[in-house]
Amino acid sequence: MSDPRQHIMPVYRPPEEVFVEGQGPYLFTEDGTRYLDFIAGIAVNALGHAHPAMVDALRDQAGKLWHTSNMFRVRGAEELADKICRDTFADRVFFTNSGTEAIECAIKSARKYHWANGREERIDIITFTGAFHGRSLGAINAGGNPKYLEGFGPALPGFVHLEWGDHEALKEAAARPTAAAVLVEPVQGEGGVRAMPDQCLIGLRKLCDEHGLVLIFDEVQCGMGRTGKLFAHDWVEGAEPDILCAAKGIGGGFPFGACLTTEACGEHMQPGSHGSTYGGNPLAMAVGNVIWDMIANDDFLAEVRRVSGTLAQGLKSLADSHPDKVEGVTGKGLLTGLKMKADPKSLQGLCRDKNLLVGVAGANVLRLAPPLIISDEHVREATGIMDAALTEWEPA
Ligand SMILES: *Cc1c(COP(=O)(O)O)cnc(C)c1O
Repeated sequence: MSDPRQHIMPVYRPPEEVFVEGQGPYLFTEDGTRYLDFIAGIAVNALGHAHPAMVDALRDQAGKLWHTSNMFRVRGAEELADKICRDTFADRVFFTNSGTEAIECAIKSARKYHWANGREERIDIITFTGAFHGRSLGAINAGGNPKYLEGFGPALPGFVHLEWGDHEALKEAAARPTAAAVLVEPVQGEGGVRAMPDQCLIGLRKLCDEHGLVLIFDEVQCGMGRTGKLFAHDWVEGAEPDILCAAKGIGGGFPFGACLTTEACGEHMQPGSHGSTYGGNPLAMAVGNVIWDMIANDDFLAEVRRVSGTLAQGLKSLADSHPDKVEGVTGKGLLTGLKMKADPKSLQGLCRDKNLLVGVAGANVLRLAPPLIISDEHVREATGIMDAALTEWEPA
């Protein structure tokens, strides 16, 4: 029999299971087997699966109007942009279909800002090891991971990669006349679920102010309530960015993203500078407005912080009871995980065999990014399964 996957470009290697339905934090296969989903499409299904408010919004919009392109006004986009600018540092929003495109818009906006201010030599985007910003040519050059660049032609000029935590190199790079922006994830996702210390975020803001650089936060994974604040940088006073990229949780599974900017960084993006056929279309905006209303809410975020505490405790006791295998707990809020002493790929498989879905990330991290709507009960179920899997697990 032929492999049903034979015509899929083999850039992923998924397990055998095929999920056909979701309900809250659970996924179901064709034969009805239930899995607890603690990865949520990589931090995407913020409200879990098939949330009635999202389903209603999408159904309702689907019967009215799908698409007009940005040749025409989209009421839902205007409404959502108003809410975003009401609740964040931003004055301008560009809607995209993905996180990568939000990054592209951020890089272009930062360079355009300098160009419009007569500093066209300022093109360098400064990033750090362990970064992940997406898969377009611009984004892989920003990320700088050699594995993702290999085979795709020469590295593009205008990107500077520094060792995470190398303050001297950063000071030197920021002072160069070609420096344009610092681009950083306040909590690294793919790189190993690693939170940047508060002091470093404040330090970055100061450094950017000192040299006239644009500070860009990639909150595609760590934003939208994932750490218990609307955006991860909201934990830190004095660390507001000039540009922020959002995606993943912002659409809850409907593919869209957003590039948020201050007036100064957004005002030079004029007709002809940028665009997107689908970005901010009526379907995406119908879902996006509902999700924003739910997540950008103090009570909702307080509950995320509370359940994050329960999960952190659970992970801490797992680390305590398996000191031979677990190095410690990492991450922030509901973007968290266990740093392991060996490659956790087979541990991820063991969890799946026990009906728990988790992820992995760089530097031997077993990554968790459950829906934000989980309860203590779901946390207990997950940590119970992880405990059993850890006991069984024999690292390679
Ligand atoms: C997932 C991710 C991206 C890319 O988003 P896509 O929607 O896959 O294009 C960019 N930055 C970070 C931090 C991410 O986690």
